[in-house]
Amino acid sequence: MSNAISKALMTITDGQLSSAHKLPSPNCNTRPDGVTIDTIVIHNISLPPDDFGATDSHGLHYVKALFTNQLDWDAHPYFQTIRGAEVSAHLLIERDGTITQFVNFNERAWHAGKSSYLGRPNCNDYSIGIELEGSDFTAFTNQQYDALATVISALYKAYTKTRRHLTGHSDIAPNRKTDPGEHFDWARLRGVVAQLAQTT
Ligand SMILES: [Zn+2]
Repeated sequence: MSNAISKALMTITDGQLSSAHKLPSPNCNTRPDGVTIDTIVIHNISLPPDDFGATDSHGLHYVKALFTNQLDWDAHPYFQTIRGAEVSAHLLIERDGTITQFVNFNERAWHAGKSSYLGRPNCNDYSIGIELEGSDFTAFTNQQYDALATVISALYKAYTKTRRHLTGHSDIAPNRKTDPGEHFDWARLRGVVAQLAQTT
C-alpha cells in the first residue's frame, strides 16, 4: 500500500464518490422500494476484449462510450456482438487507477444481468457494480488494486451492510459470466482493504 493511497481518503456523499470523474449514464433507474444496498460485485471489461485504453475517433474510451450509449457499433467487429446493449456500472477503474462514476450508488446500475446471490435474484437491485478495465487473461495493475481497495473502504463506511458481501460477476451468474477471472487476486484485495481499515 502506498502512502498516496493511504492518504487519499475517499468519501461518499449522497451516493457520489469524491475524487471520481463523473460521466452520467442513462442506463440506470430507481432501486426497488425498501431495498438495502448490501453487496459489491466486481467485474472486468475491455473493448475490444483484451485491448486496454482504446478510444473512438473522438478520443472517448470505448467502455465509457458503451456505458453512455455512445458506442459506434460498426467501429469494431466485436461490437456487433453487443450491438444495442444498454448497460452500465457504478464505477470503472482503468489500468492506471483512474476512477469514473457513471451511476449514483443510490440508483440501480445495469451491470449484473440475470443473476442470483445467496438465493436472491436480480443482483442489480441491491448491489454496487464495479468494473475493472481488464480481461480474464491478464493480471490487474497495482494501481487498480489500490484504487479498488480505497473505493471499497469508502463503500464499507457509507453502506455498512456491504461489508459482508463482496463477490464477483462469475459468482452471481456462474453459467453466463467468467469475470473478474482467475487472475483477480481476492486475497490481495482483502489484504489491502484490511490495511486501510487499520490506518484510516
Ligand atoms: Zn461482469
